[in-house]
Amino acid sequence: MAPPRREICDCGVLERASKEPEHPIRFDPHLNEYHVVTKAGGIMIIYYCFFCGGRVPESKRSSLFAHATDAELNRITHLIKGINTVSDVLARFGVPDEDTERISRVGHPGDDRNPPSGEWFLRRTLVYKNISETIQLHFSVGANDSVHPSWHGKYIGPPKPISD
Ligand SMILES: [Zn+2]
Repeated sequence: MAPPRREICDCGVLERASKEPEHPIRFDPHLNEYHVVTKAGGIMIIYYCFFCGGRVPESKRSSLFAHATDAELNRITHLIKGINTVSDVLARFGVPDEDTERISRVGHPGDDRNPPSGEWFLRRTLVYKNISETIQLHFSVGANDSVHPSWHGKYIGPPKPISD
């Protein structure tokens, strides 16, 4: 029989599991998050304890990134008005801090008619790091040098371990 459901998890099951070296559940003290870690090193964040149903501790993930205020996003919105192509970007913002290729992956779970599938997006991306205190500005480049702007909160957490 399932145990009675709790509002806040205090059953200790996740905590104990996370301390077992062979267990796929891990606790990240920087983020204050429990994760399920796959063999390939991917993670799934745990929001509710699967044993007692209670909420797990509040994540500190958002405090790792600077907060972009509405006013700041409005300022950037005005800055990027009228920018449609790579040459528009270069004319307005100059040489980017990074001119790189970014790969993102989107998965589709599938159903009884469609097989599971996925796709990759490889895009040249121009990255500007010093236009704002709180965000980086990215322009991903599409067909005919058209650009799609996006913003990304700056990382302000502890230095990341260097991985290979
Ligand atoms: Zn629990």
